[in-house]
Amino acid sequence: MKKISLKVKMSLWYTVLVAILLLIFLPISYKLLENSLMANSKSQLLDNFSMVSDYLEHKIPGENNFDKDDFTKHESKKNHQKQMVVVVFNEENKVISGNANEDFKRISPRESEYWRINTKNQEWLVYDRQLMVKDEPYNIRIIKSIQSITTTLNYIKIGFIVSVPIILTSAFGIGLLIARRALRPIYDIANTAQEIEKGDLSLRIPYTEGKDEIATLSNSFNSMVDYLEDAITREQQFSVDASHELRTPLAIILNYSDELLKDNNSNYQEEYQIINDEAVKMKKIISQLLMLARGELNQYNLDIEKVSLNEMINSIVEQMRLFAVKKNIDIEFNNDEPIIVDIDESLWTQLFINLIDNALKYTPDYGKVIIKTKEVDNVVTIIIEDNGVGINKDNLPHIFERFYQVDDSHHSQGVGLGLSLVKWIIEVHKAEIKVESKEGEGTKFIITIKK
Ligand code: ADP
Repeated sequence: MKKISLKVKMSLWYTVLVAILLLIFLPISYKLLENSLMANSKSQLLDNFSMVSDYLEHKIPGENNFDKDDFTKHESKKNHQKQMVVVVFNEENKVISGNANEDFKRISPRESEYWRINTKNQEWLVYDRQLMVKDEPYNIRIIKSIQSITTTLNYIKIGFIVSVPIILTSAFGIGLLIARRALRPIYDIANTAQEIEKGDLSLRIPYTEGKDEIATLSNSFNSMVDYLEDAITREQQFSVDASHELRTPLAIILNYSDELLKDNNSNYQEEYQIINDEAVKMKKIISQLLMLARGELNQYNLDIEKVSLNEMINSIVEQMRLFAVKKNIDIEFNNDEPIIVDIDESLWTQLFINLIDNALKYTPDYGKVIIKTKEVDNVVTIIIEDNGVGINKDNLPHIFERFYQVDDSHHSQGVGLGLSLVKWIIEVHKAEIKVESKEGEGTKFIITIKK
């Protein structure tokens, strides 16, 4: 599953929080509203009850004299406006008067309580209470329509239900905007860190003002990069100095071993040869290290000039044929087109030597190395392909790393610096290099450079 970004996660949490708050507060507000609307109706029922009790106190001289018609007339007139009806029951719960319809008369009185009933699509609030008039018990029922309240509450309920998804969607959208704004410095920091990781140690994070967490993070990150840059520069300078210093004693060793090799009568010829071979190997390593270290410290002055690419490759191939012949490897290159590129000739000579030398080293006897060049739409492509041992896919991503060797047993020369140097030369010329390889089938390096 695709990873959810931090800003989406934050807005989801924010939306969940808003949903919880709505779940708590909407029912509470609904209940409070309902209670306050009902309280008003209840107090009207109570008022009416007092009026009924007043009437009964004054108008009833005795049970048998209860004047139903007069009471009904009185109550109907009074309650008409208020949509209220009254029912009077005697002690045996028989209706003795009232302007209510039969539905309200059928149900026996309950003891002093409010209750609700639904008839003919109308909602009613009913109040039942016993009243003693001159030692005679009467059960009084006051009824009021609460249909308008129920309708209002229903509208409010629908409003709440409809507004919840709208509020939640808006909360998510707003949350996303806030999160994006809040996280912008973090994204900038991550982008800068990625650029630094690619090798540009001169970059720094800009959010250093203030005392908030972002400023603290930026400052700590910048100090760490300062430290790293300093340490790496010192290490690179050390490599430059060390390789530089090693060149003189090595030149002396080489000179003496060359001289010693000339002495054909010596019993130590084999040993002299080993010393000489190793010194040659060391010279190569040291010069590659020096070039790499100078390159990384930007101490290498590029000498860009217009170079005829095919001519240059041709002369390198001719030099390399000597080695190829020893292994019966056929080097194929025949392009005389005048392709002109702006490059540092000595660096690219080194680059082609390294790549062709590898192709020859890692291709068994009677193999084949093919070199092709072409220019299309101002892009020059150079392909160096062999049908040698190939590189397996686990090692392939690492071959450009310094001192990385797939397998020491393949060869005796080289220490894994050749391709690092190739990579550096490619980078300083803003060119590109790709490698395709299959173990046991061969390897293909593809270089592209814009004119
Ligand atoms: P080395 O000095 O070992 O040749 P490089 O940096 O030139 O160092 O190459 C790194 C590794 O990449 C080599 O050890 C080798 O295993 C592999 N490699 C490079 N070129 C080829 C090739 N043409 N065919 C097979 N393997 C290669």
